[in-house]
Parts: sequence; C-alpha cells; structure tokens
Amino acid sequence: MKRWYKYIKPYLPYFIIGPICMIVEVIGEVIMPRLLSVVINNGADGVGVGIGMGLLMILCAFIMMAGGVGGAYFGAKAAVNFATDLRSDTYKAIQKFSFSNIDKFSTGSLVTRLTNDVTQLQNFVNMLLRMALRSPGIIIGALIMVISILGLILSALPRFSKMQTKIDKLNSTVQENVTNVRVVKSFVREEREIEKFDNSNRDLKSASMRATKLMILMSPIMNLFMYATIIIVVWSGHADVLEGKMDIGDLSAFIAYVNQILHSLMMVSFLFTTASRAMASAKRIREVLDEETDISDIYAKNPEKSVENGKIEFRNVKFRYYKNNEEEVLNDISFTIEPGKTVGIIGSTGSGKTTLVSMIPRLYDVDDGEVLVDGINVKDYSLKNLRDGIGIVLQKNLLFSGTVSENLRWGCIGATDEEIDTALSYAAADKFINSFKNGKETILEKGGNNVSGGQKQRLCIARALLKKPKILILDDSTSAVDNATEKQIKKALYGELGGCTKIIIAQRISSVKDADMIIVMDNGRITGIGTHKELLENNTEYGEIYYSQNEKKDEEEVI
Ligand code: ADP
Repeated sequence: MKRWYKYIKPYLPYFIIGPICMIVEVIGEVIMPRLLSVVINNGADGVGVGIGMGLLMILCAFIMMAGGVGGAYFGAKAAVNFATDLRSDTYKAIQKFSFSNIDKFSTGSLVTRLTNDVTQLQNFVNMLLRMALRSPGIIIGALIMVISILGLILSALPRFSKMQTKIDKLNSTVQENVTNVRVVKSFVREEREIEKFDNSNRDLKSASMRATKLMILMSPIMNLFMYATIIIVVWSGHADVLEGKMDIGDLSAFIAYVNQILHSLMMVSFLFTTASRAMASAKRIREVLDEETDISDIYAKNPEKSVENGKIEFRNVKFRYYKNNEEEVLNDISFTIEPGKTVGIIGSTGSGKTTLVSMIPRLYDVDDGEVLVDGINVKDYSLKNLRDGIGIVLQKNLLFSGTVSENLRWGCIGATDEEIDTALSYAAADKFINSFKNGKETILEKGGNNVSGGQKQRLCIARALLKKPKILILDDSTSAVDNATEKQIKKALYGELGGCTKIIIAQRISSVKDADMIIVMDNGRITGIGTHKELLENNTEYGEIYYSQNEKKDEEEVI
C-alpha cells in the first residue's frame, strides 16, 4: 500500500475533495425522493406546498449538479495525475535497466506495462473515487457484494493476468513488424506476418472473453435482481396504500430509495470488475518497479573518479548470457591495452567480439575475473563517469528523429558548431551532410531512414567522437562504407585522435591491419594477440582469414 500511497500523496486534496463532492451529490439524491413524496402526498390540496417543494427541488438539483461535476472533475484529476506519476516512475525504472533486465521482460511487454497496465490502474482509481463513497448503502451493499463476488474475483484474477500477457505478445508482434517493415516487405512476408498477428490477436480475444465472461453475467443478474425487488416492493406496498396504512408519496419515495440502493450495488459490481483487472495490472507494474537493475554503481569505491588515460585491462574474464548455460560466451579473456593505442579485434561471427567490448562500459557485467580501466575496476567508477569516458558505436546504428546536429549533440549537449563540423569531418560525414540543402539542420526521419546505411554509420561515429572519449569502441562500424571513405576515417583515427584508446571490431583485415595490436577471437577465447605481421607468421586462424580475403590478389601475384 505504501508503494501506491506515494502516487496519491501529492494529489491528496483531489483524492479528498472528489469524494466529498460525490457525497454532496448523494445527499441531494437521497433528499430528492423525500421532497417528491411530500408533493405527491399533499396532492391537489397543497398547491402552495407543491410550489415551495418544487423550488427546493430545483435548488437541490443544482447542488447535486455542482457535486456531480466537482466529483467527476476532481476524481479524474486525481486519477490522471496518479497515472502520470506512476507511468513516469515506471519509465524511469526502465531507463535504469541493464541490457539483461530488458532481455528478461522483452520490449513489447515493457510497452504494455507502461501504457495499458497503467491505464487500468487509472480507470480503477477514477472509478473508486467516484463510486466508493456514493452512499452508506453502497458500503453495506459492498460488504455483501465483497463476500459474494470474492469468489468471482479470485477466479477472474489469473484470467486477467493471462489477458495482459496476451497483450504483451500482440504488442511485441506489432512492434517487431512495424520496426522491421522494410525487411518484411522485401522478403514478401506480409502474409506470414498477418497470420502471426492474427494468431496473437485471436489468442488475446479468447483470453479477454474468458476473463470477461464471468463479469458479463453480473450485469444482467443485477438487473434482474433490481427489477424483481421493485416489483416486490410495489406489490407489497400497494395493499398498504389501498388500506390507507401508507401514503402513495411514501411508497414512491421507498421505490426510489430501493432503486438507488440497487443501482449503487450494480455500480459496485462494475467497480469490482475494474478492480480485478487493476489488481492484475498492479502486479505487473510492481514487477517492473521492483526489478533490481543488475548493473548499478551504488557500491562503487571511486564514484568521483573519471577515465583519464584510457588504459584497458582484462583479467581472466568469463561471461555467459544465460547463467545456467554450460558454455561460456567469453572464456578466460586476458589482455592489456596501453593508453592511446589502436587495437583491432577480429574473429568469426558469434566468437564473442561484441560481448567482449560490452564489458568495458558495463553494458553487461563479467561473471568472473575483472575489467580495469586506468587500473581501476570498472565496477568502482560511477556509471556516468565510466560511460562518459567511453564512446561506443554499436553494431546496430540507431539515430533518433530530429536534425543531424540534434542527433550529434547526444554525444555532447553543449557542443559548438565548430566541434560538430570537426567530428563530422573525422567521421568522413562532412561532404554528404554539406550536400544536403539544409546541411546539419537536415531532419532525420525516425531512426535515420532517409540516410543510407553507410551514412548512418558515419553519423554514429561522429556522435561518439563528439564525446571526446578517452576510449573509443567501433563495433563493425565501417562495414557499410566504401574502402576510400574507410581509409579517410582511419586516417583521422590514427592521426588527430591520437590521444584516445581505440578498439576496432572488424570483419575486414584491411580495417585493422595497421593497428598497434590485433586480438583474434574464436569461440569465446583469444587465440592470438600481436601485430598484423606477427599474427600472419604464427596464427593459423588469422592467416586463414587473411588468405580468404586476399585470395584473388595472391593468385594474381602467383601468376
Ligand atoms: P560477435 O560480435 O563476435 O559476432 P557476439 O559477442 O555478438 O559475437 O556473440 C557471442 C555469442 O553470444 C553468440 O553465440 C550469440 O548468439 C550470443 N549472444 C549475443 N548477444 C546475446 C544476448 N543479448 N543474449 C543472449 N545471447 C547473446
């Protein structure tokens, strides 16, 4: 409860005024039939009383209206603010997630929790404020309802949980399809994708039906109960009226009250439907809020320290993505890179190159061994200082919608135009950017869809360079640029960026040939470390890669 009170506290006045307004409305509702009964009882004899009562009823109606509007307004305000803060905290929690936290939930499920589940809770709060205090009758009725409906809810709860999981699946399918729409189209997979969506959609439909079926019955049963009661009241009351034991006005008031109580009970039944959905959603949101990020810096021993030189050292590092897998993704990795050096990493796909560099900015944490930067364990830096010192261009290049310069300023918010120009020129991106009509102010569509793959790579390199990092990691970041452009980027890397330690993961030997040191990886292990010349002489795997890439040239030389 304490968890949710945090979101209620700032808006406590709304949470209090809303129900008070509702009580005003309810008092009006309760008085109204009484006034009407006086009018009816007096009948034609009391025209004066009738007019007086009529005016009183109009006044009462206005007060009720004010109460009703106020209750709805403050109720909605409380619920919306509650949901906004909750959504924002859930979003913040997700922002803190490590890569493996995200792997655990899946992006689709996080989106559902952030949107649909929070809305369920918002609806519930709104309904609770508007209904819960509507009349003491409701409270008594609610007690009866609680007992009779509890069984219903207990059986509905797992159904609603299941339904939310189906929404996760549907969202994941939609997200994957929409994000990758180009691939879907180029492989003419629309039909299959539609079929996949239909399956998820059908699953969701049947889960929703199963969950709501129980609740669907509730409304007609309540209606039946309501009208049956009214018939009984009229039936038993009419004899009393005929015998003169009861005034007709009192009977009509009595019917109105019974009607009100039954109507309230029906509302309570709706409240319970919303409550059982909200309970399922609350559990899912709690899971996100309670998820401990497995990468944090609270135990960092040198949180004020920043990366100064860019020396990197791996000591017997071991790592697995799935902790119960037997095979290591990184196995006994040890090496040292001196500050300012350029190091290439080469090896077959899946050999662990990306995983290895992910350990430096702590995108993942080692299972065993140590990673040190400037002689300090990466876990002892604050995450901000560590990551501020490292520029990383991931294999999957992502840009955001906005102008080119806005995108580059992700690397350094306060960067001047000159600094941006320099970064663009180091990354060999200046020419094509200047050829655009609006230059740096050209708007990039979502994800940078209006620039080519190679151009995107160069913008991502420029963005990383703008950080002026002490360590620069390029993960296969020049795979889509032509040889001449790559040469130009290499020139900058080896020349102007001399002070920064560079790690370049590449498929082509030509990209790393001139590096001070090359690490050869195979199946999670380092099979060789040395210069191009040394490795050519004593590392068979390196020799094979070199030969396969230069086969044609060598054959020509032989001839
Ligand atoms: P490389 O960069 O050399 O191609 P990676 O480091 O990307 O290799 O991958 C090494 C191994 O780890 C591969 O077998 C790959 O399937 C696995 N792997 C990579 N990323 C993940 C992840 N997020 N979750 C689980 N397994 C992963």
